[in-house]
Amino acid sequence: MILVFLGPPGAGKGTQAKLLSQEFGFRHISTGDMLREAVKNKTPLGLKAKEYMDRGDLVPDELVIAMVEEIILQEKDVVLDGFPRTIGQALSLKDVLKKHAKDVDKVFLFDIDDEIVVERLSGRRVCPNCGSVYHVKFSPPKKDEICDVCGTKLIQREDDKEEVIRRRLEVYRRQTAELVDFYKKENKLISLDSRKGIEDLYGDIKKAVEDDC
Ligand code: AMP
Repeated sequence: MILVFLGPPGAGKGTQAKLLSQEFGFRHISTGDMLREAVKNKTPLGLKAKEYMDRGDLVPDELVIAMVEEIILQEKDVVLDGFPRTIGQALSLKDVLKKHAKDVDKVFLFDIDDEIVVERLSGRRVCPNCGSVYHVKFSPPKKDEICDVCGTKLIQREDDKEEVIRRRLEVYRRQTAELVDFYKKENKLISLDSRKGIEDLYGDIKKAVEDDC
């Protein structure tokens, strides 16, 4: 089964994708995580992608498509978190899947207000060493700014600064929101209320996935 998680940054796509992969064995494919890894390792792709990401802009389609398509084809059940993000990416995905007699099965739209996104993301802190994630208000570390797991000083992702978050939201509305119509026409869209708590939201997703099994 191929699932797409669509929605603005900070809507909880990554958290829900992890839950699905833990319970049902879906391969969680996050293009944002893959690109951050490439930037960290200073690969040729990472060096090209960094400036776009730091600004909150999208990385060019051809780079993202080349990075992700091979991996999608290797797996039976995948949840695509943050891909596709443009019509070009969606068409390219459709093309490549069609060649293998596959298609996207369901698209979950994570709906949420901009101000909630800004509060969630601007308070997020991550451990640069072990990847643990905290929130200054909702899940603070025991010791201020220090990772509970490994004791490293926490950092704020460059793209979690407020002005960059606002830019990412604008980019979402301008370039990604049109995918809603694209997948609506294909009868694949399921809308979710992302203001719900993690467990309730997961319950909605799980039900839709199980209905199809
Ligand atoms: P995310 O963690 O999914 O919000 O992604 C972080 C950043 O990575 C985005 O702001 C983009 O710069 C880049 N990115 C992630 N996925 C894509 C994609 N499908 N297309 C273009 N850029 C992407």
